[in-house]
Amino acid sequence: MRHDFLADNTLEPNGVQAELDRLDSGRGSVPRRLSLAFTGNLEPAFLRHRAESVVTLQRLAMIIGMLLYTGYFTHDFFTARKFSDPQVWGLMVAFAVPGNLALFIATFLRESWRYTLIVARIGALFHTTGMLLLSAMAAHRGADIPLEFLIIQLLYDFFLLGLVWSEANVLALLAVSTAPMLMMTLQRSSLEVFDFTFFITSVAILSSIGCHLQERTQRVAWLREQLLQSMSERDPLTGAYNHRTFYSRGDKLIRQARREGRNVAVLGVDIDYFKRFNDVYGHLAGDECLRQVANIVLEHARRPLDLAGRLGGEEFAIFLYDTNRASALSRAEDLREAVKALHIPGKVRITVSMGVATATPLDSVTMEAMVGQADVALYRAKHDQRDCVREWADNKVRPSLQLVGGGSPPAA
Ligand code: GH3
Ligand code: MG
Ligand code: MG
Repeated sequence: MRHDFLADNTLEPNGVQAELDRLDSGRGSVPRRLSLAFTGNLEPAFLRHRAESVVTLQRLAMIIGMLLYTGYFTHDFFTARKFSDPQVWGLMVAFAVPGNLALFIATFLRESWRYTLIVARIGALFHTTGMLLLSAMAAHRGADIPLEFLIIQLLYDFFLLGLVWSEANVLALLAVSTAPMLMMTLQRSSLEVFDFTFFITSVAILSSIGCHLQERTQRVAWLREQLLQSMSERDPLTGAYNHRTFYSRGDKLIRQARREGRNVAVLGVDIDYFKRFNDVYGHLAGDECLRQVANIVLEHARRPLDLAGRLGGEEFAIFLYDTNRASALSRAEDLREAVKALHIPGKVRITVSMGVATATPLDSVTMEAMVGQADVALYRAKHDQRDCVREWADNKVRPSLQLVGGGSPPAA
């Protein structure tokens, strides 16, 4: 759970677009269009966003709830018309106050989104059940069924607690199905049962429709925002992070690694003789080749806190979180082999040269420094023979080394 702060930023643009198509342009079967929940890691990311955005509403709802209760109590106390029975009062307080209070407090906790939704779910279930019991008890004691409480509860479930549509529907179904049964058990006249059922069902259906429309609008707006954000962070050709994002996220992760006592590594990747590839096969084939190499690069940065970036034309970099020297080097060898094994029909095989830099929590480095170190090692790899991995370690690779040169182009 510690790493959630990045999870919602690593949403895959194609997945976002697919959900946007489904919700916004209504593609797909009716059940699929009706269903609001996203697939994959989009849903938890959205739920977090939603939980954060409804905090004020939840506080307001809880205050309104408490005021309503106080109003009812006071009214009842002075008129003694409805719940003059202390047991009914007791039940009301027992079911209403703890849930309200818990949610109200949860909204003030640090990272409240972790708790509010769960508290709201439990509270709503508790509350709805309480309302039903209360209705039964009141009726049993010869008082009127407090219909308005159930109606208010439904409105709370759909609009004020921050529950999602599907959850609110479950609660509405609970209320709509049990309330008439209760009335029948209490041997109310069939007209009364019908009236009650009709009324509460109408409220549930209308609320459900309104809640669906509202939530869909919110989800579509959020998807658009995510799409814009991921487009601004990624290189359009390869889907890897762009230069700016790679550095800014990398710096955050390096600081996090130092706090958590983790090693980190940067792998620099540069395609060998790519200019020649472009010259021979043309720019479009060059682009396709870049995409294929990028896919391999992305596959080697799959853990939640890894990053893959395109730093320049045919240069990529990978940031590996919680990775020591040995596994960074073996990951680099793996990647190099994978590129070498890549077969683009009708084209010469390509290779990459790689430079590796690692840091322990004791090294106070920045992303820029680590990429610089990996670059020095990479240039050494270019100088040595290309299609190989070199490592930056103090004094092992000299920065004054003659940069690019040597080696020979692969046979066509
Ligand atoms: P070395 O082995 O020393 O790395 O040689 P190289 O030819 O790969 O390196 P150089 O930096 O001389 O050339 C990089 C080439 O990458 C130049 C450019 O034609 C090509 N390139 C850069 N960006 C793109 C791109 O977006 N698409 C395509 N098709 N080619 C690109
Ligand atoms: Mg190159
Ligand atoms: Mg280059």
